[in-house]
Amino acid sequence: MKHYDVVIVGGGIVGSSTAYYLRKNGFTGSIAVIEKDPTYSKACTPLSWGGIRGQFSTPENILLSGFTLRLIRALKQEFGADADISFREQGYLVLASEASVDTLMGNAKLQNSMGVDTVVFDHADLKRNFPYANFDGVAMGSWGRTGEGWFDPYGFLQLVRKGAIAKGAAYIADEVIAIDAGDKVKSVILKLAGKISTGAVVNAAGTSGGAVATLVGFDLPVSAAKRYVYVVDCPAAPEEFRKGPAWFNTDGVYWRPEGRNFLFGFTPSDDEEPQIKDWEMEHHWFEEKIWPSVYERIPACETLKVVSSYVGHYDFNWFDYNGIIGRHPALENFYFGNGFSGHGIQQGPATGNALAELICFGEYRSIDLKAMGVERIAENRPLFEKNIF
Ligand SMILES: Cc1cc2nc3c(=O)[nH]c(=O)nc-3n(C[C@H](O)[C@H](O)[C@H](O)COP(=O)(O)OP(=O)(O)OC[C@H]3O[C@@H](n4cnc5c(N)ncnc54)[C@H](O)[C@@H]3O)c2cc1C
Repeated sequence: MKHYDVVIVGGGIVGSSTAYYLRKNGFTGSIAVIEKDPTYSKACTPLSWGGIRGQFSTPENILLSGFTLRLIRALKQEFGADADISFREQGYLVLASEASVDTLMGNAKLQNSMGVDTVVFDHADLKRNFPYANFDGVAMGSWGRTGEGWFDPYGFLQLVRKGAIAKGAAYIADEVIAIDAGDKVKSVILKLAGKISTGAVVNAAGTSGGAVATLVGFDLPVSAAKRYVYVVDCPAAPEEFRKGPAWFNTDGVYWRPEGRNFLFGFTPSDDEEPQIKDWEMEHHWFEEKIWPSVYERIPACETLKVVSSYVGHYDFNWFDYNGIIGRHPALENFYFGNGFSGHGIQQGPATGNALAELICFGEYRSIDLKAMGVERIAENRPLFEKNIF
């Protein structure tokens, strides 16, 4: 029977980063990354907006994204002179109504104390800095002056994936359909290749994180959350708007420049959360929710045209909307890297490194992520992130 010392289920940004950082941490054993769809046509990673920010409310999230920011800054040293993911360091502009001012101020204070370059704007500052916008109903805003923006997520995945392959990880096009586990995981069953024995399994299965956890009898509250992305042409958009930040409006609608167009989306309320997890676009949200929001905020966008749109699925953690990282509480050689709920592309590399440290050394060495462990679910200790977009 074929044997791999580590089997990683899923070759998206989390699985590929785990393979890459296992080697960076000195792991010399064999590594298999099992990916059921090597085209990644429905994986989270390529469908992502590719955003990275320091504006989180949870210290662990700030540290996880900070790790990726350092990687992006050192991209050519890490992956070679040709490495380029078109990082647009234009910042996130998060707007708050009067009712949310304390939260925004508290978040910015935490971020600044951890070295994040968040600038707080009052109403007058906002009007001065973004003269093309209307800030009625907005009390304050916070903007990541440096270290925030967006990049090409597919290009980023390909760099990490190729890096992992160059370091000897085997990518196998197959699907993990069963896992043999008693007090430890012993083998996994692949749909095409059958049984392979293993010394450790990492669950990096994105929206299927919950389904893969059930293969070892574990109830992980991670599955798909459907999200809509609209690509919009706004011919009258002022040049500063095109070169400006990603906007997060007070009503959960957000947008950012993308080439000569803009991307639009929104965070659904509980009532609006799509119950059917299919790939069908629903155009009415743009008319009902997004256009009124952007027209009020950016009047020049009165005339706009949706030029294309797509559905993506978040790898959603329905318990507390935050990544679940760490070792299984009972199976010592089964690991989770799941449930990033809209912020996993920017946290994949640090998660991969953290899981690699756990596998290599039995402890975290770069970022202490014990608070993000799966135990918090059984113990009902949610780790809520206030800034979910
Ligand atoms: C529309 C949208 C916008 C987003 N915007 C952002 C953003 O701006 N910033 C940000 O940080 N994050 C964002 N995200 C979230 C981010 O994309 C994800 O959190 C991240 O990509 C998760 O990476 P992953 O490797 O865990 O999952 P994936 O990329 O989905 O990879 C998991 C892989 O596992 C494979 N797989 C599943 N089950 C099995 C199995 N049994 N056997 C073998 N293979 C299996 C799948 O085929 C898949 O390729 C966004 C997501 C979406 C959908």
